[in-house]
Amino acid sequence: MKLTIGEHAGFCFGVRRAVDKAFDCAKQQLPCVTLGPLIHNPQEVARLEHAGVRSVESLEDVAPGQTVIIRSHGVTPQVYAQCEARGIPVIDCTCPHVAHIHQLVREYSKDGSAVIIVGEPEHPEIVGIAGWAHGDVFILPTPESAQTAQLPGRAIVVAQTTLRRDRFEAVLAVVREKVRDLTVRMTICAATSKRQQEAESLSKEADVMIIVGGRNSSNTQKLLETCRLRCARAYQVETPQDVPAGVFGPQDRVAITAGASTPQWLLEQVKVRIEEMCADAP
Ligand code: SF4
Repeated sequence: MKLTIGEHAGFCFGVRRAVDKAFDCAKQQLPCVTLGPLIHNPQEVARLEHAGVRSVESLEDVAPGQTVIIRSHGVTPQVYAQCEARGIPVIDCTCPHVAHIHQLVREYSKDGSAVIIVGEPEHPEIVGIAGWAHGDVFILPTPESAQTAQLPGRAIVVAQTTLRRDRFEAVLAVVREKVRDLTVRMTICAATSKRQQEAESLSKEADVMIIVGGRNSSNTQKLLETCRLRCARAYQVETPQDVPAGVFGPQDRVAITAGASTPQWLLEQVKVRIEEMCADAP
């Protein structure tokens, strides 16, 4: 068996920055909580909780004296305003790439112009970005949603940072037909594009593709979609226990990639598990 791990697999810059900051706070015994799970990886979130930093669902759950850590997805301006009004200190771990989208949206919509976001309406990053717009906001996850939307004559279009490039292009093609005065900002993050491209080329060559990441991690799901298009044996695993039995042959080329919120230690554990399973294979 030949085993390859993608160079761009795992934590991206923004997630690493947020996780390091949260563990720093725990080390300094600063009473703090994260607003929502810090990353889409239950194992790393549990490790953080064990270190003393738990997650809360809303600002109502923040106890007096606690600091709030804002995750890399970013939040709406209303959240900062509420923290200020309630005297809650903030450690802002919004990824600089996401903060840049907030600025684009805020500036462009100052005169009330519309904002189009290509991405998943429920995703916290999208909710946060939408909150910075002054005018109408259209969130378009698919080309079909763009077809049916009543779009205005003037708008800016931005993308969820973890979107697949082909999805963005497909939605954009429809939007271009409908919006006369369109400003396009391609805001898919380079870390995401590199990981996606790498997953694409690995899955073309591999007999078995393993994608490590949380089931609720959107970029892990997108990696899985990408790999399944090219490799019939592509599996998503959250922990080493999820690695499917009986799928590895002795001559197989196996490749591993991982979502942006997958820690290195988990990636290593999965790699060891695959090696053990291959060694045990008949
Ligand atoms: S995927 Fe990109 S934009 Fe999102 S947190 Fe990571 S570095 Fe930032």
